[in-house]
Amino acid sequence: MPPFDLPEGDPFGPHNLPYGVFSLPGASERTVGVRLGDQVLDAAAAARALGSPHAALLARPTLNALLAAGRTTWSEVRRSLTEAVTDPAHRATVEPFFHPLSAVTLHLPFEVADYVDFYSSEHHARNAGAIFRPDGGDSLLPNWKHLPIGYHGRAGTVVVSGTEIVRPSGQRKAPTDAAPVFGPSVRLDIEAEVGFVVGVPSAHGTPVALGDFREHVFGLTLLNDWSARDIQAWEYVPLGPFLAKSFATSVSAWITPLEALEDARVTPPERTHPLLPYLDDAATEPAGYDLRISVALNGHVVSEPPFSSMYWTAAQQLAHMTVNGASLRTGDLYGSGTVSGPHEHERGSLLELTWNGRDPLELPDGKRAFLEDGDVVTLSAWAPGPGGVRVGLGEVSGRIAAG
Ligand code: MN
Repeated sequence: MPPFDLPEGDPFGPHNLPYGVFSLPGASERTVGVRLGDQVLDAAAAARALGSPHAALLARPTLNALLAAGRTTWSEVRRSLTEAVTDPAHRATVEPFFHPLSAVTLHLPFEVADYVDFYSSEHHARNAGAIFRPDGGDSLLPNWKHLPIGYHGRAGTVVVSGTEIVRPSGQRKAPTDAAPVFGPSVRLDIEAEVGFVVGVPSAHGTPVALGDFREHVFGLTLLNDWSARDIQAWEYVPLGPFLAKSFATSVSAWITPLEALEDARVTPPERTHPLLPYLDDAATEPAGYDLRISVALNGHVVSEPPFSSMYWTAAQQLAHMTVNGASLRTGDLYGSGTVSGPHEHERGSLLELTWNGRDPLELPDGKRAFLEDGDVVTLSAWAPGPGGVRVGLGEVSGRIAAG
């Protein structure tokens, strides 16, 4: 069996162990699994066979019970699963609980509570500002360097990788149009993002401090914030995105625990403006993550956004979204905002890559300004891990269906 014989340096080796939820063919029960190479280990069955006290936490149809259990338990579960898949003494016991990834169905791994999306890449904000407000002077709005801009999205339409994305319909009106028209979006786009998954809730009325980020956040996942630019351009003033983004948000089937990303932690870009104390991270431990994202359109890589270039960290986003006393719930998901680096090939949306359609991409199957029906978008990523071994993040993929 391959799990114990993974090739050296496999990005889904025992140093990684992302969590997901799967079911077997013909079975309706869902249960928690961890990925090892191209196999998934039934974590509850392995824990039960090894006499682990955590079996009940893992024999669940979602990750939510594990998410709520807190940091000490997260570490204990991870330690015992690492032992289960690396200790030769356990090999015969756990081997029957591995299944090839190709033979299982992967599900949305957690029940999403609230969903928030940020706008924390300075390069993305400047590009979007220049595109949407060409005569607006500074492409960055005056508040941008003082707080992480965000909006509340729609938790109920967060879907797992592989779910078909039906082209949304809505109102659009170009500045030159006399009146709005209704129909399928003609400017359907992606946003390459990283989503952070909250485990431990917070009390209503009590802000979460910057330094408590890792007490609350369990892990991260790749996220594609599908966006209808034509609907967005007409509806977003003055309250921000609404129907342009609420039709679907895709996440990977795999949640990578923050504990697997210790070697990927980096200091965020230099702060150019003084920050209010609740956001001031000058004296805190580095909360940036060096994640190398790759965006493929129909199998062709069109962009490689570097997450380390994000101005606002996930710790600052968490502190900001609770500073007014808003509480966290287990299963809350918050997106980083489109990840765009300083270079043209590092832009995380077609809006930026094609400069709002002006400069279409040349793909092997033709030119592309925005997404066409049948297009498949796949985000993948890796991070530096222990001893130079990569930590693979589970991909998030979606195919566009006619609306
Ligand atoms: Mn977004």
